[in-house]
Amino acid sequence: MGSRQVSEELDWQGKHVTVAGLGVSGIPAARALAARGAVVTVVNDGDDERSRTQAAELEGEGITVRLGDGATLPAGTELVVTTPGWQPDKPLFAAAAEAGVEIWGDVELAWRLRGPGAAPWLAITGTNGKTTTTRMLASILEAAGLRTAAVGNIGVSLLDAVLGDEEYDVLAVELSSYQLHWAPSVRAHSGAVLNLAPDHLDWHGSMEAYAADKGRIYEGNQVACVYNVADRATEDLVREADVEEGCRAIGFTLGTPGPSQLGVVEGILVDRAFVENRQKNAQELAEVADVQPPAPHNIANALAAAALARAFGVEAKAVRDGLRAFRPDPHRIELVEEIGGVTYVDDSKATNTHAAEASLAAYDPIVWIAGGLAKGATFDELVQKSAKRLRGAVLVGADRALIREALARHAPEVPVVDLDRTDTGAMSEAVREAARLARPGDTVLLAPACASMDMFTNYNKRGEAFADAVRALAATGDA
Ligand code: ADP
Repeated sequence: MGSRQVSEELDWQGKHVTVAGLGVSGIPAARALAARGAVVTVVNDGDDERSRTQAAELEGEGITVRLGDGATLPAGTELVVTTPGWQPDKPLFAAAAEAGVEIWGDVELAWRLRGPGAAPWLAITGTNGKTTTTRMLASILEAAGLRTAAVGNIGVSLLDAVLGDEEYDVLAVELSSYQLHWAPSVRAHSGAVLNLAPDHLDWHGSMEAYAADKGRIYEGNQVACVYNVADRATEDLVREADVEEGCRAIGFTLGTPGPSQLGVVEGILVDRAFVENRQKNAQELAEVADVQPPAPHNIANALAAAALARAFGVEAKAVRDGLRAFRPDPHRIELVEEIGGVTYVDDSKATNTHAAEASLAAYDPIVWIAGGLAKGATFDELVQKSAKRLRGAVLVGADRALIREALARHAPEVPVVDLDRTDTGAMSEAVREAARLARPGDTVLLAPACASMDMFTNYNKRGEAFADAVRALAATGDA
């Protein structure tokens, strides 16, 4: 607390700053610091053609760039600004710690550089649903007539948003656990942790460390700490946070809300937190049908977005209008086609088991297309929880045997097609096999529970391959 306006007081003139990593956040950080008179050195592990071109450009602007050595701390460094992706156990950070040099991430830098009277932040983190919820929130804030943008771990860097010419009333900020790790003094107006499941543990070192980084989002909140009633760990983080006097814990639930909660009553999203006399009253916000897609986990996302908007004083009508105007990003439970009574849904973004569990819970019966890179995950719990709804499964990718074994253990009656190929045509075959297993009324769901990089450049490409194969099937009856 109390560090909200340090930014303008910092004197950058002649300060020696080392920026760790070129790339989407490193380059704008280096430029912003140099523009304020800092003496900037960028260090980068890689030394390929692309980084050489970038380095030449920065050198032309008076910034020193050291390629091929991201491990040694340049002499005289007074501050390190890191790209969020760099793992905390890097030797550079150990050297900084030893020298008593502070380490900031791109988000911390944006926070410190924002001007006086800058727009407050409504911040969102969680294992899954961050992007969706942040966009829903921005849509609600816009519907309320506020000048806003969805920024952070979402394509628009915070630095650009904070230093650009555009003026904002409030920002909808998505923060990853990496960004929170390196953001010690960020103080959001209100923050939300959507859910907590093991992910990125190789980076954080342990579940405790991962949770602690996520929990930083609540530090210094002024109006509301929004938590998931169904996920105790998120409520525990609120309890541990040091917040401003008067800041409230606000829960969201898919059930009937208690006082100081938002929830669902007979198909209506209701607010029992930001109303007069919350013991007795509730305010209708929107209908479940206003949320796209109306899958349970997405209703939860909508409630979290609504809670943050209401904490900022947005009226009920704007919540409904904003949710109606919201369109999900591609590859997130995206309806592709209906062919012969079978619905084909692309949730390529379900890259971990927690996300896949949410989308598998939204359909019944399902022909499930899964597999890819497991990133150390196990599939027993996911299969146990979803087995009842599975008409069949089609497995692709490098780690498909892990899913096949879990299916054999917990759902031996479910037919499984195991595709022993990882070439680009594999998805067409997967879709054809899924179509063969499906019956009218079923959903063929791509929810891989795995990363895509064994077969595709990224989850977008995987989703596109699925959608192309489905459209080919629709057009010709052959994927
Ligand atoms: P993130 O930005 O956290 O990766 P997204 O909004 O992009 O989250 O959604 C990623 C995937 O996570 C979606 O495709 C969906 O399968 C799943 N998902 C979305 N919201 C939730 C939620 N609240 N709980 C569990 N899974 C979710």
